[in-house]
Amino acid sequence: MEILVNEAMERIRDFLRTLPSQAAADVSGAEELARTLVEGLPTEGTPFPELLDLLFDRLLPKTFNTAGPGYLAYIPGGGIPMSAIASLIADSVNRYVGVWLAAPGFAQLEANVGRWFCEIFGYPRGAIGLLTSGGSMSNLIGIVTARRTRLPDNFLSATIYASDQTHSSVAKAAVIAGFPQGNVRTIPSDDVFRIDLSKLWETVHEDRNRGLTPFLIAANAGTTNTGAVDSLEDLADMAREEGMWLHVDAAYGGFFMVTEDGRAVLKGIDRADSITVDPHKGLFLPYGTGSLLVRDATTLRRAHSLHADYLPAMRDDDDLIDFCQVSPELSRAFRGLRVWLPLKLYGIGPFRRNLQEKIELARWITNQLKQIDEIEIVAEPQLSLLAFRIKLPGLDEEALNRINRRFLDAINARKRVYLTSTRLGGRFVIRICVLSFRTHMDRMQMALDDIRAALNEVISRDPHA
Ligand SMILES: *Cc1c(COP(=O)(O)O)cnc(C)c1O
Repeated sequence: MEILVNEAMERIRDFLRTLPSQAAADVSGAEELARTLVEGLPTEGTPFPELLDLLFDRLLPKTFNTAGPGYLAYIPGGGIPMSAIASLIADSVNRYVGVWLAAPGFAQLEANVGRWFCEIFGYPRGAIGLLTSGGSMSNLIGIVTARRTRLPDNFLSATIYASDQTHSSVAKAAVIAGFPQGNVRTIPSDDVFRIDLSKLWETVHEDRNRGLTPFLIAANAGTTNTGAVDSLEDLADMAREEGMWLHVDAAYGGFFMVTEDGRAVLKGIDRADSITVDPHKGLFLPYGTGSLLVRDATTLRRAHSLHADYLPAMRDDDDLIDFCQVSPELSRAFRGLRVWLPLKLYGIGPFRRNLQEKIELARWITNQLKQIDEIEIVAEPQLSLLAFRIKLPGLDEEALNRINRRFLDAINARKRVYLTSTRLGGRFVIRICVLSFRTHMDRMQMALDDIRAALNEVISRDPHA
């Protein structure tokens, strides 16, 4: 094992060392490559170095470089090396953390991680933080918990409310949880992409008058489109007045709570009944690390507890948690160690400074872009995500969409940064999301240089400009 780990480490070292000069994304020819890999069950073994060659030399270069500093697309991931070391340890000792009794100390470390997250969000004692595989799963567990807490077994008249900017995983979770798709109400958003409160109020009351049961508001704390944060205080007031469950999807934005600026933007989030956060986004951890925080742990427990004759007796204790009693999983990965090890090793300080830096980098590039005449900022950063596009007089929306699509391609062709687009009210816009712990000022300067160069290229080619 030691020899193999050392061989793998050599490749990892070279990969990490060259990260800054690697393409921000390169999938040219990757489809053909993927097709050549289709094969049957191997009957013979293959030498380890050959397998490492395949992984590191052939497959790795043909990907979105989600670990690199130039990845400003979608929502950047993380991958701090200390978590990889934690995974090596966790997978090697392979302890069972589904029930408390099987590894009491390890289960406690994971419970602590959940407790720290609750502390970050200002949740009271009696709250619980559960580690999940990601934000989609957290949204699902949150909605099921709300449903089982607030609704009878026949819940088909119950309705769910979310803005038109809400992540698709919320509607998907509602449908998987058994709600008819039509019971998920899409509420328009305002000019800064926050849920329109008066429209929400109107729709809730219309539904109630029609004999339906308004039941849950899914609020946004950092949308994937533009990073918009709904008015959480107002939504908390409305949820209380209407007797509704408030779930906040803070998968992208949540961990900005460790910064002072973030706390101001996310004010009121502690009043939510449940919160989705994604450590594999905002805490720079590897993919497969999500979290759901629930204000009243007993609701989560009641929605998920089980009894089986072949399992050991379960605890009903705030400190000693049987994770199988508070989640859909029984056997599960020891995700806690991936979070616990870096937080214990470094403390929260470096995470706070890194997230504050991301906020400042997003503000910086926004201000730089504002100084370019042909560029319009479509969404100012509320946290670290912004949207912009080329806007030229005399061009209709269709022509603008075409030119912006070329603009995005021209930026990405330089391969130093990778940006993605979205649509806002029919407009094609380009997004920048700064969330990687490896993204610093030097890379933002490259982003700006490439945006300027791409702009000149696209405009000089367009006869209308
Ligand atoms: C990423 C994201 C999700 C989905 O989370 P996964 O971890 O990708 O499953 C949900 N909501 C928002 C706002 C997100 O940014």
